[in-house]
Parts: sequence; C-alpha cells; structure tokens
Amino acid sequence: MIEIRGLRKTYRMGETDVHALRGVDLKIEDGDFVAIMGPSGSGKSTLAHILGLLDVPTDGSYRLNGMEVSKLSEDALALLRRDAVGFIFQQFNLLPRMSARENVMLPLLYSKKSEGIARAQALLERVGLSARAGHRPNELSGGQQQRVAIARALINQPRMVLADEPTGNLDSISEKEVMGALRELNRQGITVIIVTHEEEIGAQASRLIRMRDGEVQSDERRTPGLALPAEPRSSANGNRAPSMAAPRFAFREVGEHFRQGYKTLAANKIRTGLSMLGILIGVAAVVSMLALGSGAKSAIENQLSALGSNLLILRPGSVKVGGVAQESGATTRLTLEDAAALKERISTIKDVSAGVTGRAQLTYLNKNWSTQVRGTAPAYSRMHAAEAKVGRFFTEEDGQKRARVAVIGTTVLRELFGTQSPIGERIKINRVSFQVIGILPEKGASGWTDQDDTVIIPVQTAMHRLLGKTFVDSIEIEVVDALAIDSTQEAIQELMNTRKKIPLSQQEGSFQIFNMADLQAALSKSSATMSTLLAAIAAISLLVGGIGIMNIMLVSVTERTKEIGLRKAIGARKQDILLQFLVESVVVSVIGGVIGILLGTTTSLVLSAVTGWTTTVSPESVFVSFFFSALIGIVFGIYPARKASQLHPIDALRYE
Ligand code: ADP
Repeated sequence: MIEIRGLRKTYRMGETDVHALRGVDLKIEDGDFVAIMGPSGSGKSTLAHILGLLDVPTDGSYRLNGMEVSKLSEDALALLRRDAVGFIFQQFNLLPRMSARENVMLPLLYSKKSEGIARAQALLERVGLSARAGHRPNELSGGQQQRVAIARALINQPRMVLADEPTGNLDSISEKEVMGALRELNRQGITVIIVTHEEEIGAQASRLIRMRDGEVQSDERRTPGLALPAEPRSSANGNRAPSMAAPRFAFREVGEHFRQGYKTLAANKIRTGLSMLGILIGVAAVVSMLALGSGAKSAIENQLSALGSNLLILRPGSVKVGGVAQESGATTRLTLEDAAALKERISTIKDVSAGVTGRAQLTYLNKNWSTQVRGTAPAYSRMHAAEAKVGRFFTEEDGQKRARVAVIGTTVLRELFGTQSPIGERIKINRVSFQVIGILPEKGASGWTDQDDTVIIPVQTAMHRLLGKTFVDSIEIEVVDALAIDSTQEAIQELMNTRKKIPLSQQEGSFQIFNMADLQAALSKSSATMSTLLAAIAAISLLVGGIGIMNIMLVSVTERTKEIGLRKAIGARKQDILLQFLVESVVVSVIGGVIGILLGTTTSLVLSAVTGWTTTVSPESVFVSFFFSALIGIVFGIYPARKASQLHPIDALRYE
C-alpha cells in the first residue's frame, strides 16, 4: 500500500528551480492497476521514479507499506526496490550478451537468492517464452524482449510492478501481448503502475490518474481494483522489511562478475587486447630480464667462488705527474721480472702468474675461428683449476723457450676439430704456427661470456711471438692464507713502489690490487644498480599498462551507463557496481599479466637457447609479476569503478 502526502520535487537548473511535482497526494492500494497519464513535462516520470524508489522527493511524505521511505539513503533504497519493485522500461533494457534466462535471473545476483534457474524458467513459461530461454535479446522480437523484461521484473516476487511507457517501442500485436501479460499480473494480485501517453493503454487500467503541471488533475476509477491479492503468495514476500544488513562477502556475486567481465572483454577482443598490451609487455620484460639477470649473477658467483678467496690481481694504476693523471704511466707497467720478484721477496705469496690477453684468428686446415688468446704462467692451471683434461698444460721450460704450444678450450676444439683429436695437430694463431698440446676442462658460460672459447699459451710466447707486448696486463697472485691477504697487499704495494721508484707523493693509486672480496662487493653493488634499474623499468611499464586499463575501463563505463542504471534499478548498491567494474579491470590486468609471464618465460628460454646464457625464471618473479598485475587492475580500476558506482540510477537509465 502506497500513501503519498504533499509530495514535491524541485530540480535546480542553473539559476532557476523547476517544480516537477507541486504537492501530490495519492493513495494506491495493493492490487491496484493504475495508469498515470499527462502531457510531456507534467511530472509523470518524476512521480513514477519516486514511487519506484529510484529517487527521493524534495519534500513531502511517502509511506510504502507503512514505512516512511522519502528520506532513505541511496543504498537503502536499492535494497528496498530490489525486493519491492519490478521495473519495465520502454527500451526493455535487457543485457545483450546474456540469454533470456540469464537476463531474467540477473536481479537474483543482488538479492542473493539461490533457486534461480527453475524460477526463471517458470517465469519465462508464464510469459509464454519458455522455448526462447536460451536466446539472446537480439534474437527476439520487441514484444518478446519486453516479455522477458516482465519476467525479470517478477523474479524477486515484488508486490508492485512499475512500467514506464512499456509499449512505446512496440507494434500493436506486441502491445496486446505485453498489456495482456500486465493485466494477468494484476489479476494475480500485483500492483501495476503504468506511465503512458497513449489513451488506449490508459483505458485498460482500472484507475486513471491524469497529471498536469506537477499536480494530479484527475483521478478516476474505472473498475474496482482487486484490492486483495488473489493468489496465495509465498510467505517470504509478506510485509517483510528488506534485509538492510549487507550479506556476507558474496563469492557467488564475485564469481558471476568474473564470468560477465570475461564475456564482456571477450566480446571486444581487439580493444581488450590492445588495452592489456602495456601490462603484458611490461610483465614480459620484467620476467625475462629478471631471469637473465639472476642467471648471470649466479654464474658469476659460481665462477668467483671457484677461484677461491686467496687470489689477488695486480694491475698498473696511474701516476700523477704535476697533478695530471697519466693513464698506465710508463713507470707503473708490469713485467715478468716484477712477477718473479714478488714471488721471491714476499714470503706470504705462494705463486704468481703474469698474464696478457688479446684476440686472435685461429686457422686449422680450411677452418677459421676468432677467439681470445691468453698468455699465462704454468701456475695458472692450478690457480684456476684448469689442468688439461686431455694432453698436458705447458711447463716453465716451454715458457723459457717461448715454445709455440697451445692448450685449447672445448668451444675452440669443437669449432676447429669437430670430433677429431687435436693433440699434436698444428694450428695457426694469427698466422703463427702452434702445436696443440692439451684440452682445457669445460667451464660453461659465465654470465655473458663463454669461458670455453679461449686458447692458453705461455706468456713469453704470447708477448714476444704473438701480441708484440713488452709488458704484462696483470699479475695474478696466490696468497698462502686468506688471513694474510691484507698484509700481502701492503707488501706488494710497497715492493712495487720501490721497484718502480715512485715518489712518495704519487704513490696513491699507483697500482691497483683487487681481491675477490672487493670483486664480490663490486658485483653485488652492480647487481643492486641493475635491480634498481629493473624496478624502474617495471614501474614505468606497469604504470603505462595501468593507464591503458584505466582508459579502457572509463570507455566501458560510459558505454554501459544504461546497463549500470538498469542494475541499480533492480537492486544493485554502489558497492555492487564498484565490485563489478573492479573485477572486470582485474580480469584485464591479470590476463595481461599471465600472458606477459608466459611471454617473458618463453623469451628467456629462447634467449638462453640461442645465446647459451644461463637464465632462471624464479617462482618469486612469477608470483610478484602476477601479484602486481592484479594490484594494477585494482589501483587503476578504482577510479572508473567509483565513477560507475556513483551514477544516479535515473540519469544512468536515461543516458543515450
Ligand atoms: P513527464 O514524464 O511528464 O514528461 P517529467 O517528470 O520527466 O515529465 O518532468 C517534469 C519536469 O521536470 C519537466 O519540466 C522536466 O523538464 C523537469 N525535469 C525532469 N527531470 C529533470 C532533471 N533531472 N533535471 C532538471 N529538470 C528535470
């Protein structure tokens, strides 16, 4: 039962007030069949919207079944109209991607009732459409669509159905069907209120209210209203107040939003694909770069730990002459004699190996290969665990004689000899003939370099016969004990300064001595820099991805304004709409993220196969990428979703 007293509605249009309703008094009994008519602008729709709990009056009282509802909040109105009112619109407002049955069931999403499918099917049967339950709206005629809408209006067993120009878009045959269905509802005890401007339609109601300039002009009763429900109605639908308390977190609703979100996105494949591109590329880049980075890092660490911590590397530094830095000043260049002197004079030095390196072209028969040549002392083989696995390493004597002997890495072996044994064979290194005397053990790739792509020859031979160097590049020094490293380092510095007669004022930085701890520190520092860089790239790409998603969600909200209006009319609260659009943006971002993870993993596998670099896609990086893409969906989905949730139901329904 509806009781309205002194109802006013004033819209503010800029500076002027538009009085849409100017004090309406009205009583509508349960089971009435009311038509509201009047010229355009007379306030019919405004009155109907207030009756249907889509809007509140500016002033006056509205009691629905004895309860004052004119001051309720938007969400309270949503809950109330979900249970009390069924809506039928001129444009049907069925959701295009759902079947007739799913459209009928839609309001149940917000009322959390479960006996859905059977009820929807029964209602479709009632409006004569049970055979069309699986059809989509575009496969139905206008009259059939409106009958689906009627079934939808009834799914929550409302006591009142409000129809706004329900036949406005229909031909005369469909019009008869729809009016027949409404009359039938009324016979079963449901209050029917129709807003119409067609006299024929108005004539079919049992009560006709004419509006003019925001007031009731006439109110005539044609036939007595039914006044009492004719059909026993489920007790659950008696005078109950709607449950105001929000039900517990509804997994079913979230699940349904996921399903619908996925469907909506799948219906716009190209658009969705483009909008997830940003996040996809970002995640793929992060995953593959992390994989490469961690692979390189672990390989370098392995190599370093294999070297042992007792190793020092001495290199020439720079000596300042008159305040100007000279690169590798002549006075600090290292010689073989320096290496010998270090070993002889410093007791904590176990062994030394002076070395030079250069690139060279190898030739064997008709095969060519460009590689790194390293000149070292025999001690190198023990210091680097590089004893020949086949053949032998060279000796001190080979070095003294500047013998043209070479120990080759397995990559060189494969490239020049294939499966043939190389021992004793003669190869040319930069056109100088060498005899292969051994094969180095396989070391694998270390970060970006292949350690097996190398040739090792005596340092004297390398300097004088091959590279034309009179100085060595560096001297590797093995200290007897890790504890003696600091003192040995000082002793080396002192000895070298003395040997090279470096004046006291210029001893700062005259020689560089690296130890493995320094190298490790430098490595972890550079990998920290690398991580920061990666994080920056990740942040930027995810930001760009997020903006892409926000953009598409804003478009989606605008496009579906009418749908939002409909959902609100059938009982969706703000939070329901918010949730729906958030879920949708999370679906986009997570799908983008997952494809990105797959793409990134594939990329790093391909890179590792093509280049031989070690890559490891860690579960952490996959998890973090997934988590972040979901987070991006939420963060960048919030604004569009809030925008959607705050639409006023009437404005949204009227949106064209
Ligand atoms: P009817 O349905 O009879 O055509 P309405 O109830 O839609 O009439 O409108 C009544 C009056 O209120 C009209 O003058 C209309 O311009 C005005 N009106 C309706 N809705 C709004 C609104 N949202 N903002 C401003 N004015 C409005």
